[in-house]
Amino acid sequence: MMPAPAERSSRMLLIFLKLLLAHHAFGQQSSESVNVHSILQQDSATHYEDGIPNSLRRFIRWAPKAELHVHVEGTLEPEMMMRFAERNGIPPPYPSVQAARAAYNFTDLEHFLDIYYAGCAVLRTRADFYELAMAYFRCAAASRVIHTEVSFDPQTHLSNGVDFDTIMEGLVDAAIDAEDQFAITVSYIMCFRRDMPLETAETALTLALPWRHRIVAVGLDSSELRRPPRDFESLFNRAAALGFKRTAHVGEEGSPEYIWQALQLLRVDRLDHGIHCLDDPRLVAALNASRVPLTICPISNMQLKVYDGQLRERLGQLIHSGLMVTVNSDDAAYFGAYLAGNYEWLSIAVGLDVRQAAQLVANGFQAAFSLPEGQRRRMVDTVRQLAEAVEAEEAAEAVDKSGGKQEAESSSHRRLLTLRS
Ligand SMILES: [Zn+2]
Repeated sequence: MMPAPAERSSRMLLIFLKLLLAHHAFGQQSSESVNVHSILQQDSATHYEDGIPNSLRRFIRWAPKAELHVHVEGTLEPEMMMRFAERNGIPPPYPSVQAARAAYNFTDLEHFLDIYYAGCAVLRTRADFYELAMAYFRCAAASRVIHTEVSFDPQTHLSNGVDFDTIMEGLVDAAIDAEDQFAITVSYIMCFRRDMPLETAETALTLALPWRHRIVAVGLDSSELRRPPRDFESLFNRAAALGFKRTAHVGEEGSPEYIWQALQLLRVDRLDHGIHCLDDPRLVAALNASRVPLTICPISNMQLKVYDGQLRERLGQLIHSGLMVTVNSDDAAYFGAYLAGNYEWLSIAVGLDVRQAAQLVANGFQAAFSLPEGQRRRMVDTVRQLAEAVEAEEAAEAVDKSGGKQEAESSSHRRLLTLRS
């Protein structure tokens, strides 16, 4: 016999509490802080009115998640940018918060990067980096992120006259406080900028050595076109010899050839974006065989017009191809959504069900660089259990509804018989 709705609700509550206690990993109870609806409305290709089934929405809100592709500088909200500019005596890049938001209407990656680096110029002190990172951790915790591997671009700040240690002191203090306040585990990925001289990347790598305990990997970002990964082979070889994991932004706007180079010459453990692997079936097969993860960023791709006009189909293809795909927010302050918002948008854009969403969430833990094996397994199990619980609840609700309908029909039938007699 199907339990009564009140009994089922208390069972669901128990499952959820067990998950919380087992993983003691939730710092905040608030939900996604951005207005996903406004993002959805900007994307005319997505049928926003289709909405998300309640069960899927619940799963996205509740599921513990890992985020592997987020740039701390990309979480600089305009309010914070104005505040830092004022206290550091730097002219703000925009006359107002409204003007900043109005400028975030990008034609492509190059256009975005110009705006992005202008924003980075306000970051000067240890307190700036601390407050910036803490604000991201707060938003991430609201998306139920319990593990995050956060990228930063030291060359940008070094070229603005900021010491490497100033950056790291702020970021590491924030990581320690976030672990305490939000029960979120944090490691950092030091990204090299492919548009800056190679010697500056070499310098950053040397300066990073005393911070090895917090920097788990090196990455490669900034404008991709005309800057092939092979130009960075010796730098990545040195990073590998020093024990750093490796990742690289490739195949965001660049060709599959760049993805091949990242795999074969930079020997990357993960690919950031990598969506253009779809243009080479041999590459898709190789990625499937090697299980090298791709950190995709759906709303970033939409805002930067990657595969413009075909993005929904391409993301669907990527997810249904069986590749090890993870979902991430990239530069949330500029693109308008943190992690839960990306899952919600993707769910509508490609029509995910709870099971498919759970696979993506589990992939985030599988692909993490700095999770101990036991915790990785526990989190994958937790995600599976939560998906099963949400699906069971959905099935029971469907039975309730049809039972209620049958009851209503039989009572109206009885009324009809009474009237006839
Ligand atoms: Zn990125």
